[in-house]
Amino acid sequence: DGDRSIETSLLRNGHYIDGHWRGSSETYPVYNPATGSVVAEVAKGGRAEAQEAVDAAAKAFPAWRALTAKERSSRMRRWGELMLVHREALAELLSREQGKPLAEARGEVAYAASFLEWFAEEAKRAYGDVIPSPSPHAKILVVREPIGVVAAITPWNFPLAMITRKAAPALAAGCTMVLKPSEETPLSAFALAVLAELAEIPAGVFNIVSGDAIAIGTVLTGSSIVRKLSFTGSTRTGKLLARQCSDTLKKLSLELGGNAPFIVFDDADIDAAVRGAIASKFRNTGQTCVCVNRFYVQNGIYKAFTQALVDAVSRLRVGDALAGDFEQGPLINRAALIKVQEHVADAVVKGARVLMGGKPHALGGTFFEPTVLVDATHGMLIAQEETFGPVAACFRFDSEEEVVTAANGTPYGLAAYFYTRDIARSWRVAGALESGMVGINEGIISTEVAPFGGVKESGLGREGSKYGIDEYMELKYLMLGGL
Ligand code: ADP
Repeated sequence: DGDRSIETSLLRNGHYIDGHWRGSSETYPVYNPATGSVVAEVAKGGRAEAQEAVDAAAKAFPAWRALTAKERSSRMRRWGELMLVHREALAELLSREQGKPLAEARGEVAYAASFLEWFAEEAKRAYGDVIPSPSPHAKILVVREPIGVVAAITPWNFPLAMITRKAAPALAAGCTMVLKPSEETPLSAFALAVLAELAEIPAGVFNIVSGDAIAIGTVLTGSSIVRKLSFTGSTRTGKLLARQCSDTLKKLSLELGGNAPFIVFDDADIDAAVRGAIASKFRNTGQTCVCVNRFYVQNGIYKAFTQALVDAVSRLRVGDALAGDFEQGPLINRAALIKVQEHVADAVVKGARVLMGGKPHALGGTFFEPTVLVDATHGMLIAQEETFGPVAACFRFDSEEEVVTAANGTPYGLAAYFYTRDIARSWRVAGALESGMVGINEGIISTEVAPFGGVKESGLGREGSKYGIDEYMELKYLMLGGL
């Protein structure tokens, strides 16, 4: 595939189970979305491989949890450092199977490694508590214990970061893991396991099974050994997996879809708002769960903002990440392209105007033109569903009250953004938005030090930050009597 060669030491094409690289009888191709060519043929695993991986994780759990926090921590830190040592090779592999611009892929490698560093530190700080006792003859202690074997199911849009965001807190807590990465982007996951092995993460602590999502998912969700599922992906699949987990009452972390509003008030700094808009809307070619889906722009600033947005969007260069310096890549696959086309067509039929873009890109394949639509309204698909593509749809509004109601008018509540220079309004609007995360005069909010997650149908639980490790631990209360 292409002219450049991937650092072959990081290339694997099968499962990683109990410290061994394994094949399956069936294989399937992983494509480069920029060129349509095959990056690699990889193993297509199913129920048997998933069950073996669960058993391996169960077997590895007692010894891993018994290590001191410092011992777990130093291996995890090493794992993160190795990611940075191999940053260029990981970034190239990531771009090749996912399509994102190289600069973004390098950023993702660092972001992914940051979770290992952060949770390596947090591993040492999983403190318990002593509670003042109601009796002079007893003490009350609270200790925190790892929940056990964890299953993780991750998407293709951040093929490295969505894995370390789960694996790092899980391993820090003392849990072991079975990961099923997205079938679209398993190679980055395999590369991560190569580095885990080099970092001396013991066999069975971090396992990967890739292939038939439904078969593997059925085993992971149905197993009574697996005590927790951590999933990032669509709301539809998240609900299905939650139902599948109900028989064994697993603890759940679900990071699901969003429909982020981005509100520009009349008193906003337009240049800052446009920079934030580009960063948030067009990152990963519009394919992040915190990407803006709806731009609400107040009447007094509507023309100026939309014009400045068009100017900025027209400077975005589109192309194959490995063929030059670009800000936009292809969409992940045909289905993604069709969805974006449908959203634009539906908006136009219902009265939106296309200020720029609006159609598949001349590069062909799954490339789509960076697009700005104005005069969008609530009844359009683009207002109701996550578009997951490079389309900025602008809605007009009059009052703060009206825009907060509109912003909250979806089943989702992951990220929201707004721009204003009025401090009182900042507090009012931040408080009124039904959203797990709010960017105030900021378009990029993801960082390992802050809790990432949603409300409403955007999910359950938080990832990253000092809170992230709680998702992988149980509290155990001890009453020590007879004193
Ligand atoms: P997207 O539409 O963005 O691909 P999905 O929610 O379908 O989002 O996919 C996210 C992850 O969930 C991927 O790893 C995918 O393979 C997995 N997945 C999808 N459907 C199922 C299922 N029925 N059981 C287990 N995993 C699934």
